[in-house]
Amino acid sequence: MSYQRSSLHQHKRIVLKIGSNVIASRDKGLNEARLIKIAEDISFLREKGHELLLVSSGSVLCGTEKLGLHGPPRTIPMKQAAAAVGQSRLMWAYERLFEQYQIKVAQILLTHDGITDRRRFINARNTLMTLLEFQVLPIINENDTVAVDEIKLGDNDNLAAQVAHLVDASLLIAFSDVDGLYTADPQKNPEATLIPQVDAVTKEIEAMAGGSRQTGGTGGMTSKVKMARDVAAYGVTTLIINGTTSGQLKEAFQGKPVGTLFLPQSVRLSSKKQWIAYSLKIKGTLVLDEGAVQALIKKGRSLLPSGIQSVEGTFEMGDTVRCLTSTGKEIARGLTNYNASEMMRIKGLQSSQIEDQLGYKGADEAIHRDNLVVLNGTT
Ligand code: GLU
Repeated sequence: MSYQRSSLHQHKRIVLKIGSNVIASRDKGLNEARLIKIAEDISFLREKGHELLLVSSGSVLCGTEKLGLHGPPRTIPMKQAAAAVGQSRLMWAYERLFEQYQIKVAQILLTHDGITDRRRFINARNTLMTLLEFQVLPIINENDTVAVDEIKLGDNDNLAAQVAHLVDASLLIAFSDVDGLYTADPQKNPEATLIPQVDAVTKEIEAMAGGSRQTGGTGGMTSKVKMARDVAAYGVTTLIINGTTSGQLKEAFQGKPVGTLFLPQSVRLSSKKQWIAYSLKIKGTLVLDEGAVQALIKKGRSLLPSGIQSVEGTFEMGDTVRCLTSTGKEIARGLTNYNASEMMRIKGLQSSQIEDQLGYKGADEAIHRDNLVVLNGTT
C-alpha cells in the first residue's frame, strides 16, 4: 500500500463529483439504489470527520426522462428545460435521502461569471464556507438553465475543479462509470491495464485518456484527466473511482488500490494565482521571444512589451491572456495591462517608448509578475 493511499483519510475537506451516468439514465431517470449507496458513502466520510461538498450532475438526464423525451434534447432550450425539470427532481431525491442520515443539504447553482468575477468568487466562497460551518452538505451543479456559451463552465469535471479551488479542498473524488484511467480502451484492447497512480499529468497520460473508453457524460476521461491536472497545480489530490460498483470508496479509504490516484504538485499556487490560471476565460495570446521566456521561467520577472513577438485575439485591459513560446508551447497566463490593439502597437518596444507610441503613459509591464502565473508549478 503506497503512502498516498494510506493517507487518504488525512484529507479534511473533500469534493465528491458524481457523473450523470452514475446516478441516472435517459429512459429510467434517477437510479434510487445508486443514490442510497452514495448517501451511505457520504455519511461514512462525514462520520469520520471529513467535510464534504457534492458536485452532482444528472439534471439533464432526470429531466429528459421526466419530460418523456425519446432521445437526448435536440436544442439548447430543450436541454435547459430538461435541466430545470431534472434539477428539482434531483434535489428532491437528495433532500429526502439525506434526511434519513440527519444531513441537511443546500442547493448551489454556479455559472462561470460567478467564478471569474473576483467579488462574486469571494461571495460564493463565503457562502460555501458558511454552509460547511453549519455542517450542511452543499450540493452543487452548473446553473444549466441559464448557462450558455459565455457563462458555461463547460462540464461538471471543470465545475468540480473550480469548486475544489473555491473552498481550498485538498482531495477531489470523482465517481465515474469506469474504474479509472486505463492504458488503452479495455473494451478494444485486452492488454489494457488500469493505472493506479499518476504522479504528473504528462502528454502520454493525456493520450491514454483520449484512448480510454469515454463515459457517456459530457466530460469523459479526457476532461477528468484535465480536471486532475488543473487541481494538482494548486495542491489537490484527485481520485477517480467507479461509482457504479458499490464499496469502492470505503475500500479506497482502507488504503486499497482502487481507481486512479493523481498526486498533487508540490508547489501550491496562491488563491489569486489559481484564479488567474484556472478560473478565467482566455481572451488572447502573446507569443514571446526566447529572452522573455527565460525571464519569466527562470528569473521570476514581469513580462515587458519588448519580449512580445506577436499578439492574437481580442482582449481588454485586465483580461487573461496566454503566453506562448515561438514554438507554440504555453508557459504562462496572466492579466494584461493593455488591450489587444495597444499591445499590437507596443510589442517589441522598450517600456520607455510606450508613451511616444500610445500618446499616454501606461504600465511598464505588459503583464505584471503579481498577475502572472508560470504554468510549470512555480509562481
Ligand atoms: N450539469 C449537467 C447535468 O446536471 C451535467 C454536465 C456534465 O455531465 O458534466 O445534467
